[in-house]
Parts: sequence; structure tokens; C-alpha cells
Amino acid sequence: MRTQLFIDGRWTDPVNKGQLDVINPATEQVIHVIPKGTAEDIELAVSAARRAFDKDGWPNTTGAQRGAYLRRIAELIRERSEMLARLEVLDNGKPLPEARWDIGDAAGCFEYYAGLAEQLDDTSVVDIAISDDRFRTRVRREAVGVVGGIIPWNYPLLMASWKVAPALAAGCTIVLKPAENTSLTALELGAIVQEAELPAGVLNIVTGLGAEAGQALVSHPQVDKLAFTGSGRIGSQIMAEAAKDIKRISLELGGKSPLIVFDDADIEGAVEWIMFGIFWNQGQVCSATSRVLVQDGVYDKLLTRLIEEAKKITLGDGLKEGVLLGPLVSKQQLDQVIAAVARAQEDGAQLVAGGHRPGEFSQGYFFQPTILTEVPLDSHAWKEEIFGPVVCVRRFTTESEALTLANDSRFGLAAAVMTQDNVRADRVSAALRAGIVWINCSQPTFTEAPWGGYKQSGIGRELGKWGLENYLETKQVTTYISRDPWGWYIK
Ligand code: ADP
Repeated sequence: MRTQLFIDGRWTDPVNKGQLDVINPATEQVIHVIPKGTAEDIELAVSAARRAFDKDGWPNTTGAQRGAYLRRIAELIRERSEMLARLEVLDNGKPLPEARWDIGDAAGCFEYYAGLAEQLDDTSVVDIAISDDRFRTRVRREAVGVVGGIIPWNYPLLMASWKVAPALAAGCTIVLKPAENTSLTALELGAIVQEAELPAGVLNIVTGLGAEAGQALVSHPQVDKLAFTGSGRIGSQIMAEAAKDIKRISLELGGKSPLIVFDDADIEGAVEWIMFGIFWNQGQVCSATSRVLVQDGVYDKLLTRLIEEAKKITLGDGLKEGVLLGPLVSKQQLDQVIAAVARAQEDGAQLVAGGHRPGEFSQGYFFQPTILTEVPLDSHAWKEEIFGPVVCVRRFTTESEALTLANDSRFGLAAAVMTQDNVRADRVSAALRAGIVWINCSQPTFTEAPWGGYKQSGIGRELGKWGLENYLETKQVTTYISRDPWGWYIK
């Protein structure tokens, strides 16, 4: 495990020598320490990224050259995948099979953007038709510059790859600030890019607190673009800070995503996807379908089955075989979830499953899979993201009522619809105000498909070709090609 920052292609101690404890959330033990980078380290990292961009020629490499680095990074992630997956479990708590999945996706993300980098060689300069044949206009796509990437703790290496891969593909350089409680795999990414011989300064990794290292990165005048995934509260602060010098921003924030089950849905399938949509990664998923709306005709049956299945879920240390639900990431997160469930009950919600720290563990930030019903529409539990394994289930009668309930949220990240009626599925998916709609499923995520939210769930789209756009500027280059004098001033 790494103990230093990765700046300008080298491992270095943080200027202020500070450290942060790394706690295994399943045991509450300190298992390691990581550097507590501060504004001084961000300064060094940004100047390295600036030099790599402005002087060392990274943006002038061909897409094929950048693609080759990205493919090599993907290969090294795959070679080390078991070690990376186990580190992710120790750091974040998630079950090992989920961590393995994340690491495979992270490698896939680098491979995908390698392909897009290669395509840029053919598409980064194109002629466009204009209305005056005395001129020729070309449109060039160029890298935005130095990126500040700030990522959360729920999918540590995967979120790093969602920022780093498209930024490098576009020709940007980047300073990455991982979440303070899950930085281990991001530091391993430093070792990987070093082995891949990525030029110095192209990727810099500074661990540290959000309010120190994160804030310094956000407010740094030499950073051209900020890419952030995290809470709405911090996203809003980052947007305000970015406004001071008109930095480009992309934000992927929270959600309170609805999942609508119609009477004609396959009930067993719906129960499975509801569980996946809220218990996967302990519900610490921005797109978690945390508000389940069920039509009258199947409400009782579905709720009974959901409670039965939720109670069967095996909790435990993510490294243990057969565990489906690990601990929450931190004491702070556990306390927030406990408080949210208590508040929901005070507000009149009924607790029909879970709701407590499981008695069988004397340590670890575990919380039972939890189901709430009768949750008032104006309550905190219905409106706000809980970011834990807590689902609110509510009854509805008509399609229009379901849509009104679903869209009545300041968020709009994702939504899911369970029905066997394709016409209704199309109609409802068009009417949902969300950036991602799943039909007869919840949460499948593909590197090729756009990811991001409506309303307060964010700005911009990650993944797919949309993800690359975040890191590209658009330049018009117009040439006067006529042999005739222009004749405006000089007649
Ligand atoms: P959560 O509440 O889920 O931890 P946050 O939005 O607080 O989500 O954190 C997401 C990321 O943002 C983390 O890497 C964190 O360190 C960083 N962060 C937190 N506060 C700030 C801030 N003021 N400026 C920049 N980054 C921050």
C-alpha cells in the first residue's frame, strides 16, 4: 500500500507531512495511513499538470499515442485486478464480487476511451459547410487543459477511471483528488501509470481532505476544468467557486430515484431489481432507486416478497464468501443512515424490515437492509438521499399519479419502470424527468451510454462519447480563400 502522493511522475511526501488514517469499515481497525495533502501539494501538482499540458506536448500527441497509454493502463489494471479488488473491500467495505466487478469496469473504461482517443485522429479537424464560398471553415476539437478531478468513496477506482480515462483521451492533464476515506486504489493507479510510462505530470494524485486539498484544487486559477462526483451540497459550492474564473464544470450529484412497478410487471423480477437497486453497494449509489412506487393490484404481494427477501440477505465482512451486504463506508455514514431512519419514523413512516445495526456484529459499520412504508411525501426520508440500504415503498393507483410522484423531486438522475406493456414503458420513460431510465431493470451501467442527471442531480454527462465532450474545446478556424480583395476598407 502506498504512503506518498504521486506528483509529476514521482512519489513524494506531502509538504506538511500530515497523514490520514485508513479504517477498514468491517473491523473499525486502522489498517494504513495515507498522506494528508494540502494546498501546497495541490500547487505542485497543478504546476506539473500545467507544464505537461503547456510545454511538454501531451495535448499534441496523437490520439493513437494516447490510446496506447490508455490500453496499457487497462492491461495493468487487469493484471492487478485481484489485489485492487481486495484493497477496495478493505477501504470501502463492499463485497468482493462487487469490487471485482468495479475493477473490471475501470479497466473497460480505459479501453473504451483508448478507442475514442484513436478516433479523434480522424475527427478532431473537420471541414464544415458555410454560406460564403470565399471562406473555408474548419472545426478543431482540442483538449480543455488542466483538469481537477474530485471523486467520491462509493466506487473508488471506477470513479477515478470515469474522470481520468476521458480526460487523458482528450489530451488533458489532470490532478485527481480521491475521497479521503477511500484513496488506496487511486494511489495504486499512480503506480500503474508510472509503469505504463505515462509522461510526468499528465496524471497527478493528491490525497487529502475535501476542505483542504479539494478546496485548493477547486479554487486554483491554473485549473481549466473541474469534474466532480459527490454530494449536492459540495457540488453547489464547487459550481459557485468555478464561477469566479469561469472554469468549465461537470457535476454528477445525488438522486432520489423512483422505481415504478405496474400491476402487469413480473413480480419476482421486480423484487430482484428493487433489491439490486437499493442494496447493491449498501445503497451508497447516487442512482439508487430509493423510492419504490407500486400499483395497488400488486402492492401487498410485492411488499411481502420484498420483506421476505430483504431479511434473507447475508451481511458481513466483504471478504467473506457469500456476503451480499457489507458495512457502510464510515462511522459518519452509518450515523447519518441511523439518524435518517429514526427521523423517518418520527415523521410517521412505518418500519417493515431492518432499521438497525445488526446485533450479531460487535464491530463494523453494518446496517440492516431496511424497508419503510407510509413515508410522508414531505418528509426527509422521501425527499432526501439517505445513501444507505434504505428503501421507501409507496402505493399508487393510476399511471399519471405514479408519474407525478416520480417527478416530484429536486433530483433527476435515474428512474426505473417495471411493466410488460411496451407502449406504456415508452410513454412513461418519455415522461420521466431523469437522465437515465431503466425499463424492467435498475442500475445496469455501460461505459458506452451517457450517464448524468436532470435538475439538481448534476450538469453534463459522463461516459460514452458524451464523457469525452467534457474534456474538449471547440475551435473555429476560418480562412479567406478567395483571390479577390476583400474590398471593405480598401476599394
Ligand atoms: P460525501 O458526502 O458523499 O462524502 P462529498 O461531496 O462530501 O460527498 O465528497 C465527495 C468528494 O468531494 C470527496 O473527494 C471530498 O473530499 C471532496 N470534497 C468535500 N468537500 C470539498 C470542498 N469543499 N471542495 C472540494 N472538494 C471537496
